[in-house]
Amino acid sequence: MTDSTTTTLTFSDLHLDPKVVQAVADAGYTVPTPIQAGAIPPALEGRDVLGIAQTGTGKTASFVLPMITLLGRGRARARMPRSLVLCPTRELAAQVAENFDKYAKHHKLTKALLIGGVSFKDQDTLIDRGVDVLIATPGRLLDHFERGKLLLTGVQIMVVDEADRMLDMGFIPDIERIFNLTPFTRQTLFFSATMAPEIERITNTFLSNPAKIEVARAATTGENITQGVVMFKASKRENEGSEKRAVLRAMIDDEGEACTNAIIFCNRKTDVDIVSKSLKKYGYNAEPIHGDLDQSVRTRTLDGFRAGSVRFLCASDVAARGLDIPAVSHVFNFDVPSHAEDYVHRIGRTGRAGRSGKAMMICVPRDEKNLDAIERLVQEPIPRLANPLGDRPMVDETEDKPAARAPREERSERIRGRGPRTERKQDRNTDTPVEAVATAEANAVEVVAEPAPDLLIDRNRPRPERSDRPERDRSDRDRSDRDRPRRERNDRDDRIVGMGDDTPSFIMKSFEERRAR
Ligand code: AMP
Repeated sequence: MTDSTTTTLTFSDLHLDPKVVQAVADAGYTVPTPIQAGAIPPALEGRDVLGIAQTGTGKTASFVLPMITLLGRGRARARMPRSLVLCPTRELAAQVAENFDKYAKHHKLTKALLIGGVSFKDQDTLIDRGVDVLIATPGRLLDHFERGKLLLTGVQIMVVDEADRMLDMGFIPDIERIFNLTPFTRQTLFFSATMAPEIERITNTFLSNPAKIEVARAATTGENITQGVVMFKASKRENEGSEKRAVLRAMIDDEGEACTNAIIFCNRKTDVDIVSKSLKKYGYNAEPIHGDLDQSVRTRTLDGFRAGSVRFLCASDVAARGLDIPAVSHVFNFDVPSHAEDYVHRIGRTGRAGRSGKAMMICVPRDEKNLDAIERLVQEPIPRLANPLGDRPMVDETEDKPAARAPREERSERIRGRGPRTERKQDRNTDTPVEAVATAEANAVEVVAEPAPDLLIDRNRPRPERSDRPERDRSDRDRSDRDRPRRERNDRDDRIVGMGDDTPSFIMKSFEERRAR
């Protein structure tokens, strides 16, 4: 598309229902985005559409607007929805539903949202009455179908949103099944950020001569997103988690006020919980979001993040994919994603709608091959950033000497109140007690389990109850201990809290004598 078309095209030029154009104007949009300009005209002609676009490009409106226009001409029948939108996650489905409400506000269309975590009964009531638009996750839709509550033979328009994510989540067999339950004559609007071979196969099977619209990836063209990566090696493998969390805090602190809010991505759900818990302990306003959390908790967290009452959203890829959060100043990749495409999705959460954004990542040595894959995909090197903690020892030696540090509450207050920078920096390469369990347990837990002489017990350091400790850290420790030869494990038992790994034998001797007594 030439520049002149981009600048002159308006929503009125797209032959949408005037009431839809009005609703779009009410939303404050004047110019269609490239995916909208490309997908809406063929969709209105009744053609199948294959949109290769990621979230943040305006792709939701590119199928919602023509659907409303087309559905405005008919009526819903009981149990037979006229259109179907399939989304990989509950959040994305809820977001599409919100878009429907926004753009169909001048229409009398009915919709139902079929997602897990909501009672079947309420959803059944809506379907029984007849809906124009059914927005669903594949599993829940099939549950309803199998209970005999739903007929898909009336579906005239079917949308598959974020197909590549469906593939990652193993939903492709469900999607194929659903395709086969809908009429052959339906119109299909199919969206995916990437075209993996399996996606290509599905589109070849179920789409008929689609209009193909591909919009540029934000990551390859998004000059408004500043990227960077800190190459980081932990002092020891077992310290990696806590040290990475210290680096993360330092990166956040260095951004200062410029970091109004951020999404922090982790590869594993357990790490989402640990990072969020750790940030909270340090007084950062953080909440986790991932698929194992209750739907009501996820919704509340997201609402809080959108409203600004939650500043840091710690997220897994699946939970965050497709979420529409317009103003995110920063994305922190706590882990390098193992699928290069996820990097594109993650950083696409910032720098939306022309705003500038910053995406920063921490890369440990074993993730370097994944970093290479990302750089190949985005076709540019990601600038290396200095470790904000410099060459300082990562695990603060004062950790075991609380007298040298302010009480925890006071420290948290200082951070919460965004106290002077130098003050905060003193803290940032240390772990709070809950995290220190992970760090110090590897070195010291045996001494705590087996009562040590009073002199050696750090009574000022509050230890959380066992049940509060991060599950993964515990199991990691158990596993690594199991894996070590017995002799080596016994050696570790002899270590003394606060004395480090290489205590000179003449000093050890005095402790051993004391312990023997
Ligand atoms: P999506 O890619 O569908 O997640 O949309 C990303 C964001 O762009 C959402 O906040 C939309 O409300 C917004 N948006 C959609 N269409 C337009 C448009 N034509 N102009 C400006 N913003 C838009």
